[in-house]
Amino acid sequence: MQTLDAYAASKLAELEARDLLRRLKRDTRSDGLHVERNSQRLLSFSCNDYLNLTHHPEVKAAAIEAVERYGAGAGASRLITGNHPLIEELEETLAAWKGADAACVFGSGYLANAGITPTLAQAEDAVFIDALAHACLWAGAKLSGARVHVFRHNDLAHLRDLMATHRAAARRALVLTDGVFSMDGDLAPLDGLSTLSAEYDAWLLCDDAHGLGVVGRGRGATHVFPSADVPLKMGTLSKAAASYGGYLCASAPVIDLIKTRARTVVYSTGLPPASAAAAHAALKLMREDAALVAAPVQNAARFCAALGLPAPESPIVPVILGDARRALDAARALEAQGFLVAPIRPPTVPANTARLRFAFTAAHTHADIERLAAAVRALVSG
Ligand SMILES: *Cc1c(COP(=O)(O)O)cnc(C)c1O
Repeated sequence: MQTLDAYAASKLAELEARDLLRRLKRDTRSDGLHVERNSQRLLSFSCNDYLNLTHHPEVKAAAIEAVERYGAGAGASRLITGNHPLIEELEETLAAWKGADAACVFGSGYLANAGITPTLAQAEDAVFIDALAHACLWAGAKLSGARVHVFRHNDLAHLRDLMATHRAAARRALVLTDGVFSMDGDLAPLDGLSTLSAEYDAWLLCDDAHGLGVVGRGRGATHVFPSADVPLKMGTLSKAAASYGGYLCASAPVIDLIKTRARTVVYSTGLPPASAAAAHAALKLMREDAALVAAPVQNAARFCAALGLPAPESPIVPVILGDARRALDAARALEAQGFLVAPIRPPTVPANTARLRFAFTAAHTHADIERLAAAVRALVSG
């Protein structure tokens, strides 16, 4: 029998040999735009702080005030004594902004998805999931015990085939998709998904982690498609909303059910009051400033135009390089020029699609983007 340490060491060696070993680096962010790493100050294109609000004075002040008044942690799960009024205020604001009756805040986006699907589907049910959906949507699908059917990325015809074959055998059905796909930056066809879901009596969940604050005039991908009916609008408070936490916006009965049954609400500690306060302050800023919300996609568009890439649908732009080694080398070359661009490798993306993934924020300047585009052009052609 292998010892535990020998197992870990052999697994690490195997990953290393395939260029798939990941190591944590030490990163400090003292503004919303740069990362200090290895005593170098890098201009980051790899933060999800799309509106640079993590360091906004009003967001920091809200968190500091909450810590001073209410302490650092929630102290218990929400159903025991951890349901601070700041969380409920945040839920009201989220529901209004997303055009839903009610909302439930979770400890993180991952926890939200790990809790939502298993509350709504079990072994007798079916989950239809986009092949490129985020890892935590898959986690929720697996935890639910439902039959999982995978449709090709954004392929409505394939989803229709799968539903025609498998929907009738299942009691209830869910369709799970990202709104903005995290590694490709494209949008889900939420209007088509909504029509198909209605036709086959399935409930559509859109994970809008990368949509809130940056597409649909800040309300997210669901608002890019006015005709789409998305009953389950999930997202995170950890990206454009500059804090930490996850949410679901839905009807009042669905939210009541989630609050009493989702295991990641019931058995996990409530969000710290300061995280709720910071997210609330960030939401206020994004609701008041249309120009701020429009800027990340405009900056992505400037980069794409400079490189002759198709116009982006979100602030995320992938440049696919193929093998993992090539992505690592390209990221290293950009780092030497002062740019931080994380190389993305399998299993985060499918085999042979390792890439550089650029995330544009409101505060990147035209000059920054031109310099980056020139560096990337030299790399890709060289
Ligand atoms: C980041 C992300 C999550 C996880 O959110 P956290 O709040 O960071 O746990 C979920 N879904 C998608 C699509 C994401 O990109």
